[in-house]
Amino acid sequence: MLKDVILDEPGKRVFLLGNEAIARGAIEAGIDVFSAYPGTPSSEITDTLNSACKHLRGRMEYRMEYAVNEKVAFEVAIGASLAGKRGMTAMKHVGLNVAADSLFSFAYVGARGGFVCVSADDPSMHSSQNEQDNRWYGIAAKVPVVEPSSVGEAKEMVKLAFDLSERFGLPFILRSYTRLSHSSGIVELGEIPEKRLKKVRWERHPDTDVVLPAHARRLKPILQKKLADLEDFFTSSDINWVDEADGKRGIIACGMSYNYAVEALENLGVEMPVLKLSSMNPLPRKLIADFLANLDEVLVVEEVDPVVELQVRAMAKELDVEVHGKMDGYLPENFEYNVSIVQKGIARLGGKSYDYAHLLETAKSMAEIAPPRPPVLCPGCPHTATFYAIRKVVNELGNASLPSDIGCYTLGINKPLEAVDITICMGASVGTSNGLSYVLDDAIIATIGDSTFFHTGIPPLVNAVYNGNRFVLVVLDNSTTGMTGHQPHPGVDARGCGEKGHAVRIEDVCRAIGVRFVEVVKSYNIRAMEDALRRALKHDGPAVIVSKQPCAILWNRERKAKGIRITPFEVGEGCMECMKCVREFTCPAIYIQDGRPVIDPALCAGCGVCAAVCPYRAIKPAR
Ligand code: SF4
Ligand code: SF4
Repeated sequence: MLKDVILDEPGKRVFLLGNEAIARGAIEAGIDVFSAYPGTPSSEITDTLNSACKHLRGRMEYRMEYAVNEKVAFEVAIGASLAGKRGMTAMKHVGLNVAADSLFSFAYVGARGGFVCVSADDPSMHSSQNEQDNRWYGIAAKVPVVEPSSVGEAKEMVKLAFDLSERFGLPFILRSYTRLSHSSGIVELGEIPEKRLKKVRWERHPDTDVVLPAHARRLKPILQKKLADLEDFFTSSDINWVDEADGKRGIIACGMSYNYAVEALENLGVEMPVLKLSSMNPLPRKLIADFLANLDEVLVVEEVDPVVELQVRAMAKELDVEVHGKMDGYLPENFEYNVSIVQKGIARLGGKSYDYAHLLETAKSMAEIAPPRPPVLCPGCPHTATFYAIRKVVNELGNASLPSDIGCYTLGINKPLEAVDITICMGASVGTSNGLSYVLDDAIIATIGDSTFFHTGIPPLVNAVYNGNRFVLVVLDNSTTGMTGHQPHPGVDARGCGEKGHAVRIEDVCRAIGVRFVEVVKSYNIRAMEDALRRALKHDGPAVIVSKQPCAILWNRERKAKGIRITPFEVGEGCMECMKCVREFTCPAIYIQDGRPVIDPALCAGCGVCAAVCPYRAIKPAR
């Protein structure tokens, strides 16, 4: 909880969420600048630092901001680091794809003030479009990667990463993952430093800070030397350790997998030496070689890809040690681990029996009796109204391509709306529409959220204007970053740390870059939206419709705060049971009882869109 994150009682043990512990680590490390774009499972790091910032003002000061995208956030933190200050950013794993261009070059430049990028991976893709393992980025970009195995360790590792970043002149990636970011654990608080955010004089270092080819060629071997020195440090660092035991079979366990391995060994009543690894890049090869030297067989336990296993296999050849893990089927190649999965692998290594198949059968039969709960858009969600209008116009056309983007509106894929055909990554709805416009006979109606429009939607729209590409882009402007927890973005007048911002209007941006058809429509007005869509489809060039209505959750919150009564709607006498409100439209507040549609007043947001959908005007505000 926030009160514990800002508690100034060194030595006290508190219960924190993994992401809160990472935020507390940043506070104890005395960060100067924090910048991030929200993305699950990293968002609470940013939200916690945003709330803590206001409380710590005047005592431990840092600049906190919500950036327009991850590349910008990364570069904001680079700016702080190059000026000698501690800069930090946090993002979900796919966010690092956006920031990767800056990451690779900054490794050559090197950190001056400490630089830490938290990359929160998402094994099993609980809320992500892929399962990428960002340890590869560390290897490819020659950037150190550390990975905590517990909530308490996460806080300490943030501080260590800042210290090592300054000592070795390297940017650091701290790899978290859903199970660490979103679980809670005991954290022993350290000191919150007293500090003001003082501005400093700029010192020029063009030899390192300007990566023109001649400098970059000189910087690469320096970077390699820094990593070699860091590897020596990691070999004796207490973030990696060996749990000693007798036997010729052992386990190398990485990050959170260490806990699964320890519990699995206990469950099986088996003793094996375990090397717990937290430095993922560079790997402490001497420590690993010493560990392997006493073994005949080793099992590498790590989530998502066999990053460590591949390297251990290469080392083990010379030592004549048999290596097991993902690559030989001891452990699964995909998805998140748990104790049972790891226990199955360890049982096989130790020649023990473990009835995993029975466990899976039990889990399957339990899943079968649980009611299916597919994710749905909220009652009163303005996107539902927009998608309903889009679907209606597409049905009139007969066919259309409907690229969309990353956000809660991706749920528009579901029946009966079926208003989402493509989702690749942030901003790709506009990018792919450019390509589709070259090759399709059909109309193209793309959708993108307001936060995503600013994130990566603008450059492909510029491309569309420049090339005269014909498609309709509907910006679903709900005045927030909805999916990750209602963080602000440049389109609203709020900033981080409770400061007032300068809202950038989406329609102004579109007009300024040369879009000639720009209209703003209230999302709940489905007739006006249909009309705008029909006209936009006739426009020769990119056409933008901004569909504007605050997120239903925010709207409810605002009305409640102002004491405004929310009037639910009800299905009245005139209902002909045509079921249009259920079959063609979809709102979780409407359900069927005894063959008739009924509205749950506790869920209804009172948006009135279902009343506009009903052909018999049977839905009215409840009396
Ligand atoms: S659309 Fe209107 S008439 Fe048809 S079922 Fe729903 S409430 Fe009844
Ligand atoms: S008014 Fe209709 S569409 Fe709006 S929240 Fe209530 S039931 Fe859903």
